[in-house]
Amino acid sequence: MTDKEKLAYNRKYQKSHRAEISIRNKRYRLANREAISASKKAIYKRDRKKILAQKVKYHRVNKKAIAARKRAARVALRLEAINCLGGKCAQCEFSDIRALQFDHVNGDGSSHRKRSPSITTTEYRAIAEGRYDGPVLQVLCANCNWIKREELYEVKD
Ligand SMILES: [Zn+2]
Repeated sequence: MTDKEKLAYNRKYQKSHRAEISIRNKRYRLANREAISASKKAIYKRDRKKILAQKVKYHRVNKKAIAARKRAARVALRLEAINCLGGKCAQCEFSDIRALQFDHVNGDGSSHRKRSPSITTTEYRAIAEGRYDGPVLQVLCANCNWIKREELYEVKD
């Protein structure tokens, strides 16, 4: 058998025994967990500089894709948070996501914003997962939010 033939045979074998190989590998990984972990650690220790350089390079090369992925995740999380708070304006039931905003029910937005300029990803996640414990929030459309702001100032003046 030539090397080429061996390679072809191996490929064919792997293709036709995929499930069996997968089970065998899983069993091996479970039985040798610590040895595998130690080996990985040793490789990392030995090649640390190379591995970190690869990471830096990956981030440099894929900067735009990474940023787009993060942005998409943030948009999805914001949508989830909005849906958790009713998914529409609490005043007029307007529901176009593009004009929906988070509003501090008790008008404590400015003190909240001193800490962070807007709702953070962490806060979106907490809202979406139902464990947000900051100032009480509601969803308002941009119009209702502005109107509420105007009315608040009128009361204060
Ligand atoms: Zn509204």
